[in-house]
Amino acid sequence: MVIVMQAGTPQERVEAVIARVQELGYHPHPIYGTERTVIAAVGDERGKAQLQMLESMVGVEKVVPILQPYKLSGSEFKREKTKVLVGDLEIGGDEVIIIAGPCSVESRSQMLEVAHAVKEAGARMLRGGAFKPRTSPYSFQGLGEAGLEILAEAREATGLYVVTELLDSHELELVSKYTDVIQVGARNMQNFGILTRLAKTRKAVLLKRGMMSKIEELLLSAEYILAGGNYNVILCERGIRTFETATRNTLDLSAIPVIKKQSHLPVFADPSHGTGIWEYVTPMARAAISAGADGLIIEVHPNPAEALSDGLQSLKPEKFAKLIEEIKPFVAAAGRTL
Ligand code: PEP
Ligand code: MN
Repeated sequence: MVIVMQAGTPQERVEAVIARVQELGYHPHPIYGTERTVIAAVGDERGKAQLQMLESMVGVEKVVPILQPYKLSGSEFKREKTKVLVGDLEIGGDEVIIIAGPCSVESRSQMLEVAHAVKEAGARMLRGGAFKPRTSPYSFQGLGEAGLEILAEAREATGLYVVTELLDSHELELVSKYTDVIQVGARNMQNFGILTRLAKTRKAVLLKRGMMSKIEELLLSAEYILAGGNYNVILCERGIRTFETATRNTLDLSAIPVIKKQSHLPVFADPSHGTGIWEYVTPMARAAISAGADGLIIEVHPNPAEALSDGLQSLKPEKFAKLIEEIKPFVAAAGRTL
């Protein structure tokens, strides 16, 4: 339910309503808008009638149900777009944010070389997996903490913010120490243990859509994080599994406008995993921006032929610089900046 306060209601009245929501066993999530305050009361749906009675409290304009299943992630509760702040970056604002870097952190020299190159080309954040979710247990699993240390060094050297994946909730503290944004990979989108742990932090989370997940399921996964009070969630369309085998996944571009309509959270696109083939990354990057993406995450490797993971879809630094040039007119046409 959403409790809509009358415009100009004094703070103590708002607090009285919040306290009452808590007494009734619900979690209050207030949004202090420029015009008025609304409070979402989330919890067991069965007690709705009790919440309805809050309409009799002073300062309450109305109490209305939220029909969307994702109560806090949905646009019904919050209409204005959420801007996730990472240092001085505003994600979901006017600027289209580019995250770039290798699939995996492989060595110090690889990471530093890529970091300098992508920074030069215009990336704002650096990616690189230190804990890798691999289909086969015999494939390269990542450098672990040594990889995180390399990422931290690359961050220091370039000023780029870092995004890296959390594979296991036991590593949350360790990964948090080194990264600015925590990635939850497609395979963990419904790992509710990880989601509820992230809900208790205030770290920004890049939540990737599961390869066999519906948009509604992605938004419900985001809901787990928001329900704990962490509103710093960025969603990412990274391709879904379809009958098509000409590409690794089918980048579901329509998910971008659908999510924009259904939610206030920023949405990124990952044309690297979305296609699996480097040649298709730039056209799909252009398309994602046209569809309204707030940012892109792109795999870049100094020597894709020798990459320990995802070489086929990785761009060489020169190709990445070209991608940036080629997306510029699309960014401008979308009324955004780069
Ligand atoms: C990755 O970003 O390298 C990755 C493993 O992505 P996804 O979880 O989307 O497969
Ligand atoms: Mn990858």
